[in-house]
Amino acid sequence: MTNESKSTPAPFQPNDRRGLKRFNAIEILAILLGLGACSIGLIGAIIGIPMILAAIYSAVFIPPKVNRGLYIGKCPHCGAAMSATHYQTEVDCPSCAGDVAVRDSRFIAMPKKTAGHKAA
Ligand SMILES: [Zn+2]
Repeated sequence: MTNESKSTPAPFQPNDRRGLKRFNAIEILAILLGLGACSIGLIGAIIGIPMILAAIYSAVFIPPKVNRGLYIGKCPHCGAAMSATHYQTEVDCPSCAGDVAVRDSRFIAMPKKTAGHKAA
C-alpha cells in the first residue's frame, strides 16, 4: 500500500483527576440529590446517605470508563496546532478547515468531504 495518508502524532493528555476533579457530573448530582433527600428528614436520609456514599465510592475507587482528556497535536494538512476531545473521532482543522480523523493518538489527514453522503 503506497496510498498511506498523512498523519501527525497527537499524544493524549488526560484530564486532571486529582482532588475534587475526580467527581464527574453524575456523581456530583447524586451527592446533591442525597443532601437534598437528607434535608427532608429521617426517611430522606435513609435514601440520601447511601446515594452520597455510593457517589464518593464511585469517584474515588472506580476508574472512569472513559479516559477524558484531549488529543493535542498538529494538523496533518497545514501544520497548525489543534486538539480533539476524547469522544471525537473526526475534527475540522480550525485553520484550514481540513477534515482530520483521530485514531490511535494520531491526527490523520482525510480527503475533503463532498456534499452529500451518496457514494458515486
Ligand atoms: Zn489545517
